[in-house]
Amino acid sequence: MSVKRRAWFGDVYERGVVGQNRYAITFDDGPLEGATDDILDILKQYAVPATFFVIGQNAARSPKLIERMASEGHIIANHTWSHWRLSMFCPSSYWVRELRRTDEIIHSIIGKTPAMFRPPMAVRTPSNSKAMRITGHACVMWTRRAMDGVATTKERVLNRLVGGLDDGAVLLLHDGREAASRRDPRPTIEALPALLEAARDRSLKPTPLDELLDIAAYRDGAV
Ligand SMILES: [Zn+2]
Repeated sequence: MSVKRRAWFGDVYERGVVGQNRYAITFDDGPLEGATDDILDILKQYAVPATFFVIGQNAARSPKLIERMASEGHIIANHTWSHWRLSMFCPSSYWVRELRRTDEIIHSIIGKTPAMFRPPMAVRTPSNSKAMRITGHACVMWTRRAMDGVATTKERVLNRLVGGLDDGAVLLLHDGREAASRRDPRPTIEALPALLEAARDRSLKPTPLDELLDIAAYRDGAV
C-alpha cells in the first residue's frame, strides 16, 4: 500500500505502510553536543533505529555526531542549512541552495546524499516544493509530534507521543535546536526511555524510516 498523501503542490509522506505493527522515530534540529550524545546512548541501549533531520550548519559544527549516527545505523536526512524562520517567503532558488549546501556537508561526512527532507516548522510552499523536485528530495512529515521544540516537560512529551503510538506512526521529537532557540533538550531525553518501552509494551516494532515509508533514505552519487 502506498503511503503517499497528495497535497496540492506535491507529495508528502506521513504515515508509514501499515499492517505490520511498526513505527519510526525521528529527531529534528540537531545535532547538538550533549543532547544528541545522550539520545544516541539511549537509542543504542534499546537497539532502536532513528532518523535525524539535521540542520546543515549544526552538522558542520559537530561532524563527529553525524559520523556516530551513521555508524550506529541511524538515517541522516536534510532539514535545511540555516532553519531560518522567515524562509517561507523565499524563492525556490533560496531553497535549492539550502538543500544542496546541507546535502554537501552530509555527503562530505558520511559519503551519502540524503533523499529525505523535512521543511522547518512544517511549512510547505510552492517555492520549497519546487526546490524539492529540483534537488530530488521526498517531503517527510510525521503523524505525531512531541511539541518539544518549545519549553515543555517530560510528562507532556510522553503523553503526546504515547497517545500517538500506533501502526505506521512517525514520531517527531527534537534532539537539537535552531540558532535562535534556547530550548532545554532535557524533557525530550528524559521521556525517551519510557516512550521506547511503551512502544515495546504495545509490540510496536521500531523500524527505519525508509523501510516504514517504503522510500529511499539516500540517493546515488554526489550532490
Ligand atoms: Zn526544525
